Amino acid sequence: MVEITDVHKRFGNLEVLKGINLTVPLGKIISIIGPSGSGKSTLLRSVNHLEVIDSGTITLDGVAVNRPDIKGLAFERHINHIRQNMGMVFQHFNLFPHLSTLDNVTLAPRKLKKMDKKIARELGMELLDRVGLADKADVFPAWLSGGQKQRVAIARALAMQPKVMLFDEATSALDPELVEEVNQVMQSLAKDHMTMLIVTHEMGFARDVSSWAMFMDGGVVVEENTPDKLFTAPDQERTQNFLRKHL
Ligand code: ATP
Ligand code: MG
Repeated sequence: MVEITDVHKRFGNLEVLKGINLTVPLGKIISIIGPSGSGKSTLLRSVNHLEVIDSGTITLDGVAVNRPDIKGLAFERHINHIRQNMGMVFQHFNLFPHLSTLDNVTLAPRKLKKMDKKIARELGMELLDRVGLADKADVFPAWLSGGQKQRVAIARALAMQPKVMLFDEATSALDPELVEEVNQVMQSLAKDHMTMLIVTHEMGFARDVSSWAMFMDGGVVVEENTPDKLFTAPDQERTQNFLRKHL
């Protein structure tokens, strides 16, 4: 479970997050929607400390991600441990081009968990199978379609057996016909009760898959609710205007 409490973040004079509160309970899927520049990516990146927040707290299973009380190497160890428990999938997949699909998936468990080669291979094949790519194990990323690359990226994130998965516009760089195959993988994770925090511009997908949905604008949470309510009968005018343009 991830708990975000009163998080503030500024870039120079620009206050991007103005006191965000959000809980991602175990096994639930929370979607964040909102216009460009509203702070969605900054919030997601703050969750695994890719952005350093100015104030507030973010915890993973009760452990603070941002710990100003520990410094240097100790902090590095702390944050590495946190990150190992959070799988992150971005808009651009950033697969290692010189590694096969299977090696992309098994690299982190082999390096960070010192997993035995054979066991890592079994795990990697299992995960590739799960995302429908077992037959691409020995292929290099350059040979894959965008949707296939993104599915490998998901398998790679799952390989560390994270407690939570963070998705930032995982399908927005894909051709429309490739979006569905990635959505299906995310949907299957949802069925397996993976805890997920999803930033998406796909309202239909967010409505179908989430347990809770949050609309952000200008660094604040304007409105949050069950997806049924938020997407069909939002209370706030800002949410209504946004959805009118995006549904
Ligand atoms: P989009 O839907 O376009 O991805 P977003 O909601 O994810 O938008 P963010 O990427 O979080 O928005 O950006 C929020 C604001 O912070 C924007 O005005 C952006 O220009 C600014 N910003 C983000 N990262 C930085 C940075 N490293 N330095 C300065 N400003 C930044
Ligand atoms: Mg973004």
